[in-house]
Amino acid sequence: MSARLLISLLTMGGLGLFLSTILAIANKKLKVKEDSRIKQITSVLPGLNCAACGYPSCHVYAESVVQGKVGIGFCFVGGKTVQKNIADIMKVQVEEQERKLACVRCQGGERECKKRFRYLGVRTCEAVNQLRGGDKSCVWGCLGYGDCVSACPFEALELNDNGIPVVIEENCTACGLCVKACPRDIISLIPFSQKVYLGCVSEDKAKAVKEVCTVGCFACTLCANPKITPGGLIVMENNLPKILVERIKDWKDLNQSVARCPAKCYVTRGEDKGEHNEN
Ligand code: SF4
Ligand code: SF4
Repeated sequence: MSARLLISLLTMGGLGLFLSTILAIANKKLKVKEDSRIKQITSVLPGLNCAACGYPSCHVYAESVVQGKVGIGFCFVGGKTVQKNIADIMKVQVEEQERKLACVRCQGGERECKKRFRYLGVRTCEAVNQLRGGDKSCVWGCLGYGDCVSACPFEALELNDNGIPVVIEENCTACGLCVKACPRDIISLIPFSQKVYLGCVSEDKAKAVKEVCTVGCFACTLCANPKITPGGLIVMENNLPKILVERIKDWKDLNQSVARCPAKCYVTRGEDKGEHNEN
């Protein structure tokens, strides 16, 4: 080995050693100490990194809780137990919130709402929606390719044989991922106590609705008539009836509206289901 090569190797080695020492010292001096609560919270989270809380991982959710960016009740997989554990770590009270539930506000499946053209592209709602507003005759309605079903980490949605997603209530954590996944804004979160909702989002006028769907709301306003629904519990807005949920004391007050809707647009759930569906 020549002397020149030896000098070069020693110089480079020395330089490397010097720089790595500087970096090690800087790392030690400048290191930001992580709040120990982040580690504690991460340890009580399920560790699935499902992102249902809206954060990419359990650790990032834990960081955000400690930084005060998000509440303690957003781990839908862990539910109340995890919420209580986080509350203990953060030394705060458990936030009491009414349980919510996803609802699919369209009943116009393949039998009720025909397709406008044969779609052969990528089989997602997002993709078909970008092609001339989708293959469904109704430009408001459910496209039926199940993006919401794929988005749900809790197996709380399934497509029925008519191409409409159905919520399996006992599995739904109201995480809202299906709401975000739907390109048509058809899924909403409603209070668990809400027994009736409108299964249509079309804001079109009567003629246009009737041309494309047999179960679409054609804004006849019957359900909003005070002779049928007492106390102005339903009002018309953008060609659609809107239930004023906060005013409802007894969901049976909507029985007549539900029963007399000529298009059978209302969907009922819970213990009153049978009564509403009689007609
Ligand atoms: S149905 Fe929707 S809100 Fe309910 S758990 Fe599934 S993705 Fe979340
Ligand atoms: S509700 Fe929305 S995401 Fe789900 S199948 Fe219908 S259009 Fe697609």
